[in-house]
Amino acid sequence: MKIFAAIAGLLFALAVPVFASTDTQTFETAAGDVKITPIYHASTLIEAGGKTIYLDPAKPAKLDSNSMPKADLILVTDIHPDHMDPASEAAVSKSGTEIFAPPAVVATVTTAKPISNGESKTWQGWTIEAIPAYNLVRGPSAGKLYHDKGRGNGYVLTYGGKRFYFSGDTEGVPEMRALKNIDVAFVCMNLPYTMPPNEAAEAVKAFHPKIVIPYHYRGSNLSVFKKGLEGSGIEVRTLEWYPQ
Ligand code: ZN
Repeated sequence: MKIFAAIAGLLFALAVPVFASTDTQTFETAAGDVKITPIYHASTLIEAGGKTIYLDPAKPAKLDSNSMPKADLILVTDIHPDHMDPASEAAVSKSGTEIFAPPAVVATVTTAKPISNGESKTWQGWTIEAIPAYNLVRGPSAGKLYHDKGRGNGYVLTYGGKRFYFSGDTEGVPEMRALKNIDVAFVCMNLPYTMPPNEAAEAVKAFHPKIVIPYHYRGSNLSVFKKGLEGSGIEVRTLEWYPQ
């Protein structure tokens, strides 16, 4: 009977919606816990102090589900549809939801407040710093880049003394390498748009967060990333960003 119960339990577990948050990470800070849940690709849920933040809510994440909390704040990193998706932003919005985004996003999402590379804002106990996110060499054709410098933002989010970095779409740019005192870094890797896992590992070594979590990694070999950080003292945590 125990086996049947175990199988029934497993089937039940498999039937739970993808946002069952088994991959939710909880980080203690001086202001209380910060919970971060991978949703899909770049889409991330951040919860702290009774407030809900979404980073880059976008399809195909099913954000209109009743199981998803509504946003107090939405952060957008760039104009591409895996980051800027007005329908998904609307799906998680309620009365009073604020949106912070780069000016190029504000041109489309007109309710957003602009935050440019190098700017910072304070919001409900958080400090939000916009970090440049851009390509150094990769682009769709000679002389063009997928992400031009100055357009997209990564973010350093500080709460209760802990610093969380979300890279946005970028290569291992000097501004990333120069980051200081990052507790948890969420770093992109995927070709052709951002960077391969070995380059991501090299950039991460340069700013040496305590913990690094690959995200926005579709098609990348995470074992290459892990190997690149072996012996660095940086903890690599892998989460499921592509649930079925
Ligand atoms: Zn992207």
